[in-house]
Amino acid sequence: MTGTQEFRDPAMARALVRSITDLIGDRRIALMEVCGGHTHTIYRHGLEQILPPGVELVHGPGCPVCVIPMGRVDDAIWLAEQDNVIFTTFGDMMRVPGSRGSLLEAKARGADCRFVYSPLDALAIAEANPDRLVVFFAVGFETTTPSTAVTLLRAREAGVRNFCVFANHVTIEPPMRAILDDPALRLDGFIGPGHVSTIAGTRIYEFCPRDYGKPLVIAGFEPLDILQAVQMLVAQLVEGRCEVENQYSRVVRPEGNLAAQALVAQTMVPRETFEWRGLGEIPGSALAVHPDFADWDAEARFAIPGRRVADPPACQCGDVLRGVIKPWECGVFGTACTPETPIGTCMVSPEGACAAYYTFGRMRLTRAPA
Ligand code: SF4
Repeated sequence: MTGTQEFRDPAMARALVRSITDLIGDRRIALMEVCGGHTHTIYRHGLEQILPPGVELVHGPGCPVCVIPMGRVDDAIWLAEQDNVIFTTFGDMMRVPGSRGSLLEAKARGADCRFVYSPLDALAIAEANPDRLVVFFAVGFETTTPSTAVTLLRAREAGVRNFCVFANHVTIEPPMRAILDDPALRLDGFIGPGHVSTIAGTRIYEFCPRDYGKPLVIAGFEPLDILQAVQMLVAQLVEGRCEVENQYSRVVRPEGNLAAQALVAQTMVPRETFEWRGLGEIPGSALAVHPDFADWDAEARFAIPGRRVADPPACQCGDVLRGVIKPWECGVFGTACTPETPIGTCMVSPEGACAAYYTFGRMRLTRAPA
């Protein structure tokens, strides 16, 4: 077997499910997969359906598109509508609704909004359009922050002054702490994010067992990766252990990617606080462009309104992102809110829990008894 096949072997999957079933007995446990990439794999491959009913998978806040609040989308649209601006971002962000619609709708009204695959593409647009100002709407967790860092360094080295970044990069530890501090918490452990950990390493999660008594297993993105991570978590819980373990050791190192971490430290600084959709203000949970790069910082170059905007009353993305409800329990799921007509962010990106449920149609429409 080659490539991904070895991580999708049905016989191995059945063996892991048997092991989980034997280990768990009649216990009931709830595990949060923090990362939207895991949510996508779980529903694409129907993993929830083959796990024993005692294992409940709860979807976390690790989809970067899903956590951007309405106010930041409104700010992005405000920037896109400034004179002489070419506004660039990743494709999913073009469809995220703000209070005045999405960037795609702003484009239809005449704003020059373009989607790119990387911030370096945005920098190339700036070099090709020296009479225009190119703004890059940067979003994402530790995984994507280094590419923005590299782009800022390249822009400075090349003296490209008609380029700046509207930084919305977030970090994984503060929202996990916010979830763990929630009195309504009903989780027994975490499936830790694989891509984020590639950059950040395994040590950043030590607070989970140390401060909250919750185990965490970092997992890869193939079906067998996730099943094995569930098996490792169930084994910890059954054996009374509480540790950080690394199922994704073929990629993730304890110290993470030190070179990428250094690039980020050189170009960005922690924000005092940042608003998350559904989670509210979380101190120290995001990064701003470093003052040394103020010439490339959209927030330094523009007086951005910075409004706070409440989610639409029908939107329950916050409850989905905190694992309080399942996507299908939202009153507008699959009716007013679909991937074609998203009301909330969780229906936009393929990594969003609502989009994953809707797209793959694998819904367990009842909760396992507590
Ligand atoms: S169905 Fe739509 S509005 Fe409801 S939680 Fe999901 S994305 Fe948000």
